[in-house]
Amino acid sequence: MGKTRLRLVIGSGVKARMKILVLNAGSSSQKSCLYQIDEELPDNPASPLWEAKVDWTQHQGMAEIKVKTSEGTVLEEELQTNNRPEVISHMLDTLTQGKTQVIDEYAAINVVGHRVVHGGQGYREPTVIKPEVKDAILRLAIFAPAHNPANLEGIEATQQLLPNVPQVAVFDTAFHSQIPLRAAVYPGPYEWFEQGIRRYGFHGINHQYCAQRTAQLLNKDLASLRLITCHLGNGCSLAAIQDGKSIDTTMGFTPLEGLMMGTRSGSVDPGILIYLLREQEMDADKLDQILNRASGLKGISGLSGDMRQIKSEIDQGNQRAQLAFDMFVHSLCRNIGAMLATLGGLDALIFTGGIGENSAALRAAACKQFEFLGLKLDLDKNAQSPVDQEITTSDSAVRVLILQAQEDWVIAKECWKLSRETDFRQSS
Ligand code: ADP
Repeated sequence: MGKTRLRLVIGSGVKARMKILVLNAGSSSQKSCLYQIDEELPDNPASPLWEAKVDWTQHQGMAEIKVKTSEGTVLEEELQTNNRPEVISHMLDTLTQGKTQVIDEYAAINVVGHRVVHGGQGYREPTVIKPEVKDAILRLAIFAPAHNPANLEGIEATQQLLPNVPQVAVFDTAFHSQIPLRAAVYPGPYEWFEQGIRRYGFHGINHQYCAQRTAQLLNKDLASLRLITCHLGNGCSLAAIQDGKSIDTTMGFTPLEGLMMGTRSGSVDPGILIYLLREQEMDADKLDQILNRASGLKGISGLSGDMRQIKSEIDQGNQRAQLAFDMFVHSLCRNIGAMLATLGGLDALIFTGGIGENSAALRAAACKQFEFLGLKLDLDKNAQSPVDQEITTSDSAVRVLILQAQEDWVIAKECWKLSRETDFRQSS
């Protein structure tokens, strides 16, 4: 069979209106959105026509599915399975069927965008998925075992359902790929670096978006800003951004380094791991489980990695929940301090992600430590957690903003842009 050229100048209408499906796979979640973008990209993030979220964290072996349309229709279901491709196919059926139907057939979708967590050093730009891209995602799964295989399952499930639709990978490591070597190389033997053991950094899609959105909202040239973006969700990371580029970030070779997180420890003395391996007969799997799933807010509180639950327990007087919160703030501040030193100054501090966007107490506690910079939080504004707004006073020397994380929208935009620049080619 020869090659067929699939041009993404769609339909015969006067306006090229695109429908873009986005898949965003987490280790125990799967999100998906359908966006429509018309001839021009809007200045502000668009709302999806349809969005779905699958959550495997609530009950063992059960997938909880929630689907919402822009009209407000909601569908909630539970499926008894851990099988991601099966769940994806079920989730996507709700696009074309039942009360959450928003399109007549899959063929109405012009392109599918996937968030891929690890792109290694080779993938620094959004990329049309061809067999060699899938091979690379699989190869890089040794560096991101909780994410890359899930991303690949999403790609394969959608390729089966939509065999003729171009698919695009947008990499979470890409934004950090130009971090200077002095920040990227670990001070172990140099051979580590030669073997690919280096800082990759993650959450890049959102860190980059936050930098661009900050420049837009402050009406400044991005190249003139020194920014620290604080992505605080279930996973947490900071990026130091200068001239629109990431020059340092707290996550490293894996998404385990850096800040204390919901269930991940963040950085701990590596000597602890040697001690546990030697003295408590632990193995790699057990360490992995402890450091990724039984540490952080959950490990310290003994309750949960969910900040809402930590806050409500603090209100009941729970001391360990209070300690977990205080440690989280401490870890955040000492790492902001590190990013600050890398940047040599700061124009704006950005809070994003579920905790960053919603926890006024956390933002207030963190900002207090940086009052010495002339940072003045507007406590009333902060208490309201306003979306995509500044929360500092007009005389503050450092601006502080809350930005809603918009990974899915960024992926949709990247697909749209790529479709303008490239002819998507596929084997047939
Ligand atoms: P993910 O990294 O999986 O995308 P999110 O960005 O949704 O996760 O962030 C999840 C975190 O946000 C959880 O710790 C949750 O408790 C926290 N969160 C969500 N809403 C609030 C809130 N109103 N107050 C404090 N924390 C919140």
